Amino acid sequence: MDLLTALVDKGLRRELPSREEALAVLATSDDDLLDVVAAAGRVRRRWFGRRVKLNYLVNLKSGLCPEDCSYCSQRLGSQAGVLKYTWLKPEEAAAAASAGVAGGAKRVCLVASGRGPTDRDVDRVSRTIAAIKDQNEGVEVCACLGLLSGGQADRLREAGADAYNHNLNTSEGTYGSITTTHTYADRVDTVQQAQAAGLSACSGLIAGMGESDEDLVDVVFGLRELDPDSVPVNFLIPFEGTPLAKEWNLTPQRCLRILAMVRFVCPDVEVRLAGGREVHLRTMQPLALHLANSIFLGDYLTSEGQAGQADLDMIADAGFEVEGADTVTLPEHRAAGVCGTHEGGCGGGGCGEGAGCHHGTAPHATDATDATDAEPAAQAVPAARTDLVAVRRRGAGTDLPPNA
Ligand code: SF4
Repeated sequence: MDLLTALVDKGLRRELPSREEALAVLATSDDDLLDVVAAAGRVRRRWFGRRVKLNYLVNLKSGLCPEDCSYCSQRLGSQAGVLKYTWLKPEEAAAAASAGVAGGAKRVCLVASGRGPTDRDVDRVSRTIAAIKDQNEGVEVCACLGLLSGGQADRLREAGADAYNHNLNTSEGTYGSITTTHTYADRVDTVQQAQAAGLSACSGLIAGMGESDEDLVDVVFGLRELDPDSVPVNFLIPFEGTPLAKEWNLTPQRCLRILAMVRFVCPDVEVRLAGGREVHLRTMQPLALHLANSIFLGDYLTSEGQAGQADLDMIADAGFEVEGADTVTLPEHRAAGVCGTHEGGCGGGGCGEGAGCHHGTAPHATDATDATDAEPAAQAVPAARTDLVAVRRRGAGTDLPPNA
């Protein structure tokens, strides 16, 4: 397939594909899916080998957010019934982080609901970072606290944070239909503040909110322009009690095409398979490891992931290996100067579930031409198999502590 040959060639050279090429990946047929995965897998292996970086989310502050991100179970007015609590104490967060590190995570992502931190919140998170680093030598810490104001990124960096996560989530054109309490530009500004402070930027997207293929390509090209070191790809978890509860738009095949497109557009970036992988990829999760080089271990912010041991088994069974703490995540050209240190790689969770936000309309159409010259356009997208999935709220109806 000429398209895939060209994309692999570009990916190996870190060259940006055209928008048309990115759209064509999303429009490939199911018959071509394994070829698409294999092609993007070559690019993934060129820059990251067969390594899988594990990240662990710690939800420092859950629910009760004044913002209205439509995808988020913690939003203003959410009826999702998720755990709600105010800030974990530094030692509580450190204990949770240590459990993740013991499971193989090399990055801990500290997430707090809310529009953004106060200076007092930054003090509190600084103490938490110190407690985590004290107990877990060499661990990377990424903060995800929402929109930053002047000087806060510098203070987090001084406190020892390696990275900052703030997702763009969806395209600039559709952002206003997902969230009204802040803008796409606000989000771009926070990512740039983090970068200016020397933090490794982590910024990604949420797919499955009803967006078009063009929207997806827009947000991924927007991310490429921002040049984060890690890009979490979330698949919407349609929580009951949120405006997007009925948005079951994704199939495993669609998720794989999206991940492949992100890999081709951001070839040497840590692409993280984030929230929603279990409910949307289901038994196809192992194929996604050929595209993403990073996942979250265990649970998400307000919903359960598969058990951590199942993640480790999946990685081993698929022929991949967990990335060790002494391995630099990012390729050499990118790691130099990242985090101001040795260990490149930085990613992060994000507001929402694994990170991200937004909403959409109709399921993506078969609007682009097929990747092959002679073959018909991609088939109509089959209905999502909602009978196969269940969103399990973390801690719901149990005494489980946060991120147990
Ligand atoms: S994504 Fe973040 S800012 Fe938006 S509603 Fe959820 S917790 Fe609040």
